[in-house]
Amino acid sequence: MVVSVLSYSQKPHVVCVPFPAQGHVNPFMQLAKILNKLGFHITFVNNEFNHKRLIKSLGHDFLKGQPDFRFETIPDGLPPSDENATQSIGGLVEGCRKHCYGPLKELVENLNNSSEVPQVTSIIYDGLMGFAVDVAKDLGIAEQQFWTASACGLMGYLQFDELIKRNMLPYKDESYITDGSLDVHLDWTPGMKNIRMRDLPSFVRTTTLDEISFVGFGLEAQQCMKSSAIIINTVKELESEVLDALMAINPNIYNIGPLQFLANNFPEKENGFKSNGSSLWKNDLTCIKWLDQWEPSSVIYINYGSIAVMSEKHFNEFAWGLANSKLPFLWINRPDLVKGKCRPLSQEFLDEVKDRGYIITWCPQSEVLAHPSVGVFLTHCGWNSSLESISEGKPMIGWPFFAEQQTNCRYISTTWGIGMDIKDDVKREEVTELVKEMIKGEKGKKKREKCVEWKKKVVEAAKPGGSSYNDFYRLLKDAYHCDAI
Ligand code: UDP
Repeated sequence: MVVSVLSYSQKPHVVCVPFPAQGHVNPFMQLAKILNKLGFHITFVNNEFNHKRLIKSLGHDFLKGQPDFRFETIPDGLPPSDENATQSIGGLVEGCRKHCYGPLKELVENLNNSSEVPQVTSIIYDGLMGFAVDVAKDLGIAEQQFWTASACGLMGYLQFDELIKRNMLPYKDESYITDGSLDVHLDWTPGMKNIRMRDLPSFVRTTTLDEISFVGFGLEAQQCMKSSAIIINTVKELESEVLDALMAINPNIYNIGPLQFLANNFPEKENGFKSNGSSLWKNDLTCIKWLDQWEPSSVIYINYGSIAVMSEKHFNEFAWGLANSKLPFLWINRPDLVKGKCRPLSQEFLDEVKDRGYIITWCPQSEVLAHPSVGVFLTHCGWNSSLESISEGKPMIGWPFFAEQQTNCRYISTTWGIGMDIKDDVKREEVTELVKEMIKGEKGKKKREKCVEWKKKVVEAAKPGGSSYNDFYRLLKDAYHCDAI
C-alpha cells in the first residue's frame, strides 16, 4: 500500500495548534506540510510573539503561504515582548490554558463563516494545548492530539499522580538532591525498564505539589490520553514497550516519526507551500562550509536547543572541557544561553581554540547532524534533537536540562546504547574525557556502530510498508476518513 493520491468527499481542512516553542513548531510544520502535500487545506496557528519572530528569521514571504496553507495568530496571555528568545515555558503553559480558548474558538468560527476556505474538519493540537479540545468539542469538530515529545516522556508525566499516591512526592526538603533519593529505582513504571527517579521528567524534583510545571505537565499528559487520536513523532522500533503500555490506556496512538523521513515519500506540489524550515532564529549557514574541512566523524557538535539555560560557571566548564580536548568543535551559543549577565569568552580561550573551534548562535541542525564530519552530538536531549541525531546515525553525550529530557537521556544511554551522559554539575575534566572517548575511544566506536543499526531501523520505519508509514496510513483512514489509492 502506497499513499499517493487521496480520495475524500470534501477537502479536509486542518487547523494546527502547536505549543509556541521551537521544538513544537518544527514537528507541527513538518506534519502540516505532509498533509498539505496530500491535498489538505492547512491553517497554522502561531502565537503573536512567534509569528513576529518567524517573519524576522524567514522573511515576510514565508508567512504568506499559499492559498491552501495559511497562517493565523492568537494571543498567549503573556506580556508583549520583542526579545529574540523563548518565552517562559511555565508561563506559556499557564497563559495558554487560561487565555487561548476564546481566541481559538473565534478563529475557527470565523474560518467556518468564510467562503474562501473549506469548512474546518479537524483541529490538531499540541499535547500542551489542551484548551483546543474544548474548542473542538464545543464546535462539534473532530480533534487529534500531536504529542511532539517522546513516548517515554509521556509515560513519565503520567507517573506524577502515582508518585504522590506512593508518598514519594513532594520531597520534604532540598536534601533529596544529594541524599540518594533521585537514585531510587522504579520497578513499577509501565513499559519502562531501568528507570530511576532522576530519569523521570525533571518536574518531579519538587518540594511542593503546587509547582506550575508539575501541575501543568501532569494534567496535560492525562488530558492527552483522552484524545480520540494521539499522534507521536516517534518510531515503534525505538519505543515499542512504552508504546504498548500507552496503547493499553488508549489504543488510538499513531507513531509516525521521524517526520522528516516520512515527508520524503510525498513529492512537493507544483505550486504548493515551500517552507524552508520553521526556524525562529536566523540560521547561520557558514558552519556547513566550516564542517567540510574536517575528517569524517572528527568534530564535536554542541547544541542545547532553544530553551535550556545554564550558569556562567557551567558555561565555562563546557568551554574549557572542549578546549582541553584539543578536538575540533562546532558550538552553538544562543545569546540567551547563560543566565543573567555573562562575560564574553576569554581571549585566552579564544586563542586556544582559534584553529579548531567554530562558535555561532544558531544553525540548521538537521543539516549539521547529517554532515559526515560530525562525530558526536553533545545535546540537552530535547526530543527533536534526539530523534534527529538517531536519524543521522550520530551518537550523543547527554546533558539534560529539564522536562522529559532526563527520560530521553536515559533511553539514549541505556535502552538504545548510543550515548553517555554528563553529571548535572558539569566539570571540565568530565567533558574532556567524554568527548575524547566518543570521538577516539573504544566505547565511542561501539556506540557509533549501534547508531548505524538504529538509523537503519528508523529510515525503514518511514518507508512504504514500515511501521511509521503504516501508522500514518491508519491515521489518514481513521481520523480523516481518507482512502489512499
Ligand atoms: N534547532 C535548530 N538549530 C539550532 C538549535 C535547534 O534548528 O541551532 C532545532 C532542532 O533541530 C530541533 C529544535 O530546534 O528541531 C529543538 O527542539 P528540541 O526538542 O531538540 O529541544 P527544545 O528546543 O524544545 O528544548
